[in-house]
Amino acid sequence: MSEEKTTVDMDAIVSLCKRRGFIFQSSEIYGGVGGSWDYGPFGVELKRNIKDVWWRDVVQCRDDMVGLDAGILMHPRVWEASGHVDGFTDPLVDCKNCKKRFRADHVEDGKCPECGGELTEPRMFNLMLKTFLGPVEDEASVTYLRPETAQGMFVNFANVLDVSRKKLPFGIAQIGKAFRNEITPRNFTFRTREFEQMEIEYFVKPGTDEEWHERWVEERFEWYVQYGIRREYLRLRQHEGEELAHYAKATFDIEYLFPFGWAELEGISNRTDFDLRQHTLFTGREMSYFDEETGNHIVPYIIEPSGGVDRAALAFLVDAYHEERVRKRKRVVLRFHPDLAPIKVAVFPLLRNRPELVALAKDVASGLRPHMMTVYDDTASIGRLYRRQDEIGTLYCVTVDVDTLEDNAVTIRDRDSMEQIRVPVPEVRDTLLQKLGRA
Ligand code: ATP
Repeated sequence: MSEEKTTVDMDAIVSLCKRRGFIFQSSEIYGGVGGSWDYGPFGVELKRNIKDVWWRDVVQCRDDMVGLDAGILMHPRVWEASGHVDGFTDPLVDCKNCKKRFRADHVEDGKCPECGGELTEPRMFNLMLKTFLGPVEDEASVTYLRPETAQGMFVNFANVLDVSRKKLPFGIAQIGKAFRNEITPRNFTFRTREFEQMEIEYFVKPGTDEEWHERWVEERFEWYVQYGIRREYLRLRQHEGEELAHYAKATFDIEYLFPFGWAELEGISNRTDFDLRQHTLFTGREMSYFDEETGNHIVPYIIEPSGGVDRAALAFLVDAYHEERVRKRKRVVLRFHPDLAPIKVAVFPLLRNRPELVALAKDVASGLRPHMMTVYDDTASIGRLYRRQDEIGTLYCVTVDVDTLEDNAVTIRDRDSMEQIRVPVPEVRDTLLQKLGRA
């Protein structure tokens, strides 16, 4: 991570996430637990939207992709074949003074980053979380919580090929939880022990792998731009030498300029035929593809775009965060892309002590609910209600006022321009759907 800084302060993001209900510390009332976070009412919507647009773009809209949802618990031999039992390790150092542990590659000057104390020599530490299957805690029942979703797609390669009848090149996509016993979880939800991945395994003919690698790198980079991340806050970085994973021929990281520096959002690797060959070696099962053109059985190469849902959510949050002055007051607004905004519309009565306005506003909200994520609120003055919605990035606010009783029309306020238009009640739904690009 570089020293470069953005203008947004990470503390402002963390505090907004807690205050407004995006992200809470896990088990907070017990003092919290390292490396695990809970997504609150708006965080869960943001995350769902990210996963939905990803799935729509990489599965639904493509003819060459299918989905999968494999188990978190797999046969323990999978992790031997994949190289994770032997190779999924980080060098670790301990501080002789304060006893804290750090990844050796995260320590800059050989001194403890916390207290400046002397550090031990690095030792290798396996990042997989061990668990036991069945009631007996013996070696035979040991397995691991998956550290990546990828292996579920490799071991199902033949099953998926059989049922989908796809021709090379084609891919499998999966979204799911992964677990790593990170030595130093940090930077809020950026590095956690439990997280979600959105992964693609794209199977190609050997020899076409480099070209497909390039295409996926470009496609995935543009995906983040498409959903609103500023292009100048994204960059590509190629892995060099020792940084390359044991299975990879080449890897590019898409990095985002977080408040704590440049850091990885998604890695796109050329995994070659390593994984399929390893599973054949361990199981004796053929993991090949019959190429009708040449009459040969080939073991495909795999291009893997592997992104984190939590890291994407954090980048979208940070990038959407804006502070501005409106009539001498600070306005905090999250300018989420319309597809990602947790709430599309909020409906308020201008006066909460007027039962006719309350009833009408509740009616308008009920009519919108089946079509878009809608909230109703009457727990504060209109100014505060607007500010609340701005802070969670709600796209539109609909207000029912005294004139509504006369003209049966309401105002719709736009989050970004703050402009208001007056729309007849029967047209509110279609107007909003049109604005959302869904009409
Ligand atoms: P890092 O170098 O930051 O530890 P990595 O290179 O080990 O990450 P990959 O193995 O490439 O990560 O995993 C693919 C994606 O999964 C990452 O780009 C990231 O978005 C997500 N991811 C990996 N580890 C974590 C974690 N501990 N917390 C949150 N997301 C993670």
